[in-house]
Amino acid sequence: MQYISKYNFKKKGHAIIRRFLRRQWDKEAGCYFNLNYNQLKRDKSFERLLKNEQHGFCCYCMRRLRKDEITLEHVIPQKIKNKVPELDIKYYAQFGRLKRKYVKYMESIPKDKRLKVPPYPHSIAYENIVASCTGKVYNEGEEYALHQCCNNFRGNKKIVPFFFIPQIETKMGYRRDGTIECPERFENTIKYLNLEHPSLTFMRRIWATVVKAGIAITDVQKAQRDIQLREDIISDIGIVRDERKKLKNDIYWSLLNEFYWFHGYYQNRKG
Ligand SMILES: [Zn+2]
Repeated sequence: MQYISKYNFKKKGHAIIRRFLRRQWDKEAGCYFNLNYNQLKRDKSFERLLKNEQHGFCCYCMRRLRKDEITLEHVIPQKIKNKVPELDIKYYAQFGRLKRKYVKYMESIPKDKRLKVPPYPHSIAYENIVASCTGKVYNEGEEYALHQCCNNFRGNKKIVPFFFIPQIETKMGYRRDGTIECPERFENTIKYLNLEHPSLTFMRRIWATVVKAGIAITDVQKAQRDIQLREDIISDIGIVRDERKKLKNDIYWSLLNEFYWFHGYYQNRKG
């Protein structure tokens, strides 16, 4: 897990949203057209900005974000299902820069009046949007299953946005068996995001064993093509037969490489 600062890139973030607001305004008609999130997400410069801000990793599972497999995640959901939305709005306002002076919950954005920003409508607010993976992992077999974790798996459920908690790395961690250690108040969120999906736990555990065996990250990358090297690594890390069989498969090895963030993580982990 990494902390995402919504401070360092705020100028660029706001500039993109303001440019979007200008573009959608029709002077002659005196109203906005398609002023909504679906239109905003077509702006690839926004997606790129979020990706850079997050050093290229999914906000939830720390997988490397692939260009064609990014989804944008609203921290305050696009539609709050709770009967009293104010309660949820107040809840989220304590995290990151989701304060009301920057972000305003609006179920729909009024079209006939030019918006004065900030605050930005929550569905298009830079402060409320982060980049997530598509939750594409394996369910035991050799075919990808979509939406198994992260953004799409969460739906509209109320979560703790870990990445907006300063020093999150001191509050939440990953054991060497790949499971997550965290305070009890985070546990529902882990469930809602499915961050202990067997494939995710497996990938983390393998990285822990790779680090323990003193294997370099570059060798793990090279072993994507170098089958002999891969066999050597697999026999060095001492795992059970069933897991060995999986890792001999290219698709599992390439998924492992997408989670390379955990190499650094386990190297620095004490105990
Ligand atoms: Zn993810």
